[in-house]
Amino acid sequence: MRIDILTVVPELLESPLSYSIVGRAIKKGLVEIHVHNIRKYGKGPHLQVDDYSYGGDAGMVMMVEPIYRMIEELRAEREYDEIIYMSPDGEILNQGIANELSLKENIILLCGHYKGIDQRVRDHLVTREISVGDYVLSGGEIPAAIVADSIVRLIPGAITDETSALSDCFQDGLLSAPIYTRPAEFNGWKVPDVLLSGDPKKIRVWQDEQAIARTKELRPGLLAED
Ligand code: SAH
Repeated sequence: MRIDILTVVPELLESPLSYSIVGRAIKKGLVEIHVHNIRKYGKGPHLQVDDYSYGGDAGMVMMVEPIYRMIEELRAEREYDEIIYMSPDGEILNQGIANELSLKENIILLCGHYKGIDQRVRDHLVTREISVGDYVLSGGEIPAAIVADSIVRLIPGAITDETSALSDCFQDGLLSAPIYTRPAEFNGWKVPDVLLSGDPKKIRVWQDEQAIARTKELRPGLLAED
């Protein structure tokens, strides 16, 4: 799989893509992630990528042409399954979308900045718009890192123990059961006896009950979605 991220602040993406599961997946060759600076196609000696908004609203708008040319450069090399604009008014990212995107071959994540991007990019180039939640951030870079992370950890081999990703929250529409590690008792706080029982069947039943109880209590909406 290949992910191309288009931005005017590539520096913001350096560390999220360099460490932990995503960093290792790149090193293992499971995914290629390329970050491109849209300024490469900026206008004039200052490589301008934004301009005043028509209508006089406050805030600068990212121009069509540099984004168009950046996308054209990439599209000349390969076909893209999706060109995704990170946007607060897009569909809100969830595990289902991450699962779906993890099966694609080539995707572009386009990061806005300033006031956002010229609507014509959204109308003519973008195939999908994704938000990371109902709040506004300064740029699409952190959202793009979130989308990339949520996808990459699902690629077989990215997580050493694959069942670990499958038992995460949301994978079966439920929150996860509580987890513990050694010691079995700290400060008088005990790990539930069942987890120390060594009986995998009993443990599984307990985990399922806990997952349902936690989902009912914390996120009843997830159960209602069925
Ligand atoms: N004027 C826009 C906000 C621009 S914020 C509006 O009112 O909707 C600048 C950029 O940050 C956006 O172009 C987008 O790429 C990114 N961004 C901000 N919040 C986001 C969110 N919740 N999800 C995804 N991207 C977001």
